[in-house]
Amino acid sequence: MLKSNALKNKKSKIQQRNTPSQGAAKRLQSVTWWAVLVGLIILPIHLSFGASPLDRLATAVRFKTVSSQDTSKIDYRAFAELNEFLASTYPKTFEQLDVEYINTYSILLRWAGSDPSQNPVLFTAHTDVVPIEIGTEDGWQHPPFAGVIENNNLYGRGTLDDKQGVLSLLEATETLLEEGYQPRRTLVFGFGHDEEIGGGNGAAALAERMRELNLSFDWMVDEGGFVVRDTPLLPGRDLAMINVAEKGYVTLTLTTQAPGGHSSSPAKTGAIGTLARALDRIESNPFEPKLVEPMRSALTMMAAEMSQPERFLFNNLWLFDSLIAGQMAKDTTTQPMVRTTTALTMINAGIKENVIPQRAEAKVNFRLLPGDTVDMLIATITEIVDDPSVVITNDRWMDRPGVADANGNGFAVISAATATVYPNALAIPSLLQATTDTRHYVNLAKDQYRFHGNSIDASQARSVHGTNEYISERSYNNAIAVARGMLKGAGDGL
Ligand SMILES: [Zn+2]
Repeated sequence: MLKSNALKNKKSKIQQRNTPSQGAAKRLQSVTWWAVLVGLIILPIHLSFGASPLDRLATAVRFKTVSSQDTSKIDYRAFAELNEFLASTYPKTFEQLDVEYINTYSILLRWAGSDPSQNPVLFTAHTDVVPIEIGTEDGWQHPPFAGVIENNNLYGRGTLDDKQGVLSLLEATETLLEEGYQPRRTLVFGFGHDEEIGGGNGAAALAERMRELNLSFDWMVDEGGFVVRDTPLLPGRDLAMINVAEKGYVTLTLTTQAPGGHSSSPAKTGAIGTLARALDRIESNPFEPKLVEPMRSALTMMAAEMSQPERFLFNNLWLFDSLIAGQMAKDTTTQPMVRTTTALTMINAGIKENVIPQRAEAKVNFRLLPGDTVDMLIATITEIVDDPSVVITNDRWMDRPGVADANGNGFAVISAATATVYPNALAIPSLLQATTDTRHYVNLAKDQYRFHGNSIDASQARSVHGTNEYISERSYNNAIAVARGMLKGAGDGL
């Protein structure tokens, strides 16, 4: 753990470079004058570029802060350079807030409130991005790390996930500081640098440091939710999906063993056949769809916006919940909201075409609905496989946050901030289908929400971790306005 201030470091580096050696003072003086002169010419040009928030986000996209499962492939220089860029681009924020760099690249900022009796609020996001899948580069309208703006859209990896999350918070903070805003409640920012590979060095270390500082948050807000245009749930209407829960992430490994041997004299069945039958049973027996929180609350809130007969059905979930869950399970978009999902993701067996393998292994990834547990999952899968020769083990898995209070302070602040910017959007408590860094803060915040104030449509949602990720200028400016509303709402101690 390292406590430092990037700007101060930078200044001291510059000072070191300019320290005169004996007898060279005169030469240095003229060099200094040149530097001032060049600076005077370059500075205004530099400022005229990168003048808008979207330009600054474009610059941030150009730093290739790519997280790779193979950590030896990570270019940590890019992370250091992005951090330097942030510190120099948002000088008030990095000078007036307490700044710590955790594990060198993650950023912890603390904006002290005037009323220490109030619990602080935590805002999190991450600076790393996922790699570009090999062979998909040509599908991008503009290269993913070029930071090109065309027709008011900025293209690039991280424009949605999640550099806009980091920069929209910094934009809002910088403006509030310029205006002399003083929060009553302490506001804390945690920007992890390895969310895409689990957050072990970033968010986990940030959380550890927060525990050392005895920080305990009233609520927190992380990435994960957006304002979604035109969803199948409520066509024609914008939904501010404020995630109050996320699905659990568990991978089971299935292993089979058999004598193997020469393929010219095979046994009746081998390791591959036994494993394949087990996988087929798992895939053909999906988990039953069901309506659990927060989907029940969300559907009830949407009922008022619906026409008949949906309105009647959604208003009477006690009677129609299994019917609605069954319908939602038929649509690929809504299916994950009502079911613990099953995905066969990896299979590995055999080394040569004429050798029967002695061992076969497969991985199955499950995303658990709130309320479903790992023990329950293993018991169900063991029953479905119904073959003691198939060994089922589970990978390491972490506690996930509980369902946050949709009537709590945080939800009220986030939905009020959103309503100012999107007067026509309906704010609903929602379930995140992926996982985020949020789980690392599980015991630090009473309520955990996931939401960024930019609006996207279904095709943009697919571009996250995929091809042609982009953000429109309007959507980004809205995200900054929502971030500002959230910071002020939290800071005023609502
Ligand atoms: Zn993300």
